[in-house]
Amino acid sequence: MADDKVPYAAGPANSRGRQFREPAPRGRSEYQRDRDRIIHSTAFRRLEYKTQVFVNHEGDLFRTRLTHSLEVAQIGRSVARHLRLDEDLTEAITLAHDLGHTPFGHAGQDALNACMKPYGGFEHNLQSLRVVDVLEQRYGAFDGLNLTFETREGILKHCSLNNARNLGDIGERFIKRQRPGLEAQIANLADEIAYNNHDIDDGLRSGLLDLEQLSTVAIFRRHQRAVLREFPKIEGRRQVHETVRRMIDTLITDLNRQSAASIRDLAPESIADIRRAPALIRFSDRIRDEQAELKRFLHSNLYRHYRVSRMSSKARRIISDLFQAFMNEPGLLPPEFQARAQADTPRAIADYIAGMTDRYAIVEHRRLFSIDIS
Ligand code: MG
Repeated sequence: MADDKVPYAAGPANSRGRQFREPAPRGRSEYQRDRDRIIHSTAFRRLEYKTQVFVNHEGDLFRTRLTHSLEVAQIGRSVARHLRLDEDLTEAITLAHDLGHTPFGHAGQDALNACMKPYGGFEHNLQSLRVVDVLEQRYGAFDGLNLTFETREGILKHCSLNNARNLGDIGERFIKRQRPGLEAQIANLADEIAYNNHDIDDGLRSGLLDLEQLSTVAIFRRHQRAVLREFPKIEGRRQVHETVRRMIDTLITDLNRQSAASIRDLAPESIADIRRAPALIRFSDRIRDEQAELKRFLHSNLYRHYRVSRMSSKARRIISDLFQAFMNEPGLLPPEFQARAQADTPRAIADYIAGMTDRYAIVEHRRLFSIDIS
C-alpha cells in the first residue's frame, strides 16, 4: 500500500510526528498505531452506550456512537483507498472523531455548553482532542495517547479562533485559514454520508418517519424508484435497506469522482499544496444540493420530532442538574475528578459529565437527586 500512495498522502516522509518522542512501531505504521491506541482507549468503549439520535436504551437496533463511528470508518477507508491516500490515518481520525461527545447526543452537548458558557464553553470537537491529548491515562510516559499530529489535526474538525490561539501547532491552520490533509477532509464527509443515511434507516425503524414522507426527498425518491423498477414487489425493511445502500453507493461514487477531478485540476505535489487549496474532497453540485435537502428534511421531521424533543428536553435537564450539583458541592465528584477540580472546577466537572454514557448519567442523576433512601 505505502508505495502506491500519492505524494500528497500523509506518510512518514511528511508527518509532523508525536508530541513525545517514541521508538518507531514495529510491523505497523505510525497511523496504524494511532488507530490501535484509539480502539484500546476507554473513551472508545464508552461510545457503545452514547446516543447518536436515539437514547441507548430505546432499542437494540439503533445506531450508537460506536456503530456510527464504525460506519464512518468504513466509508472513509473506501474513499481514501480509491484516492490512494493513507487509509489508516483516515480510519484513525474517523474512529476518534466522536470521542468527546457528551451523553444524549446534541442535546447533551448544547446543555453542557450552556452550563460552561461563563467558563470557556464546551465544544465536542475540542473535547475529542482533549480526550486523546489529556484525559486518557494509560501510558507511563505521558498523559493522553500521544497521537501523531495528523490524527490530532483531523480530530479537530473546527474550532473558534480564540481556542485555536491556545492550541499551538494544531490550531495554526484555523488562524492561517488553511485546510487539513485530504485524509481529514475525507473523514469529514464520510461522517456526513454515514449519519444522513443511518438516520433515515433509524428514523423509519422507529416509526418517527415513514416512506411516504421520505419520497418527498429527491435523493431518496430517485433511488426508491430504481429499486421498485427492479423489484416491484419489494416491501418493508428490505425496500428501505435496498434504497439506502444505493444512496450510500451513489454518494461514495460521486465523492470519489468529484474529489479525483478537483485533485487533478490542482495537480498538487505536496501536502503544503493541499493545505493552501480550497477543500478538494467534495461532492458534485447536484449531490451537494440533494444532501442539503435531505439534511433539512431530517432536521424538521426527525431531529425536531416531538418524541425526540421530549428526550432532548429530559437530557438537558439531567446534564444541567448534574453540573449545578457538582458546582455547588465539588466534594460529590469522584476522587480523580476532585483532584482535577482543584485546578479548574468547572472544567473538571465538564470532563466528568462529558465522559458519561447515557445510562451512567441517568443513574448518577438518580443517585444525586432521588429522595429514596436506599
Ligand atoms: Mg460523527
